[in-house]
Amino acid sequence: MFMRRGYQAMTAEGVVVSAEDLREFVFCPYIILTRYIDGVNIKPPKRYSLDALHKVHYIIHRFGIESAYRVVVAAKQTNNKKILNFLKELLEIIEAHKKITPSEDVFENINLTSQQLGLTGKIPMIRDGLPTIEYFKINEEKGEIPLWDKILLSAYALLLEYHDERDVNYGIVEYVSTSRELKIEITEELRDMTFRYLHWMIRTMRSGRYPMKYTIDPLKCNKCLYRNDCQYK
Ligand code: SF4
Repeated sequence: MFMRRGYQAMTAEGVVVSAEDLREFVFCPYIILTRYIDGVNIKPPKRYSLDALHKVHYIIHRFGIESAYRVVVAAKQTNNKKILNFLKELLEIIEAHKKITPSEDVFENINLTSQQLGLTGKIPMIRDGLPTIEYFKINEEKGEIPLWDKILLSAYALLLEYHDERDVNYGIVEYVSTSRELKIEITEELRDMTFRYLHWMIRTMRSGRYPMKYTIDPLKCNKCLYRNDCQYK
């Protein structure tokens, strides 16, 4: 029988934090200060290709590779070299998923919010009841899943549990270009850590400064969208 774990965010005014912002906070708390306190709002470059990769990936899991082929072949009526190269990439993804069995239990872009958890989020894909995040064009030999993505999966699992009233004890990370996937256990420790970060983030946003010593990692700064505008690096 499902028992709620009783997590409750300390957001008195019903404020909710997005799981995606929480992920950024775990990556580097100064992103959140730069965005919400200093008011620097940099929109990530629009990556139509990522939207298309996600859509084809969803179609593969939901309707099968034949349906995905039909979508890609229909888009092939062009002489644009860039688009043709991109379609080649999509075909490679379809090839890599040849052994996948489609399932009706696949959903995409599910928005969930819980005032009690103080969380909201848009889950890119739910497969067999498990939240799934997609890695595109990432060298899978890098291995270890970073903490910020584990926290993101954990936040999605907590939201799904709250919404569906069932235990969600795993999340999936899928390397889309090879279809390899890792099952991440949503342990009690990870759930607790998710709430600790959530509360740090809320405190940070209320106080306008990071409440504890944090060592800036120049390697992160190198790949951070905010590097040109961040006053903390
Ligand atoms: S530039 Fe560096 S310190 Fe600033 S937000 Fe990005 S990762 Fe953090």
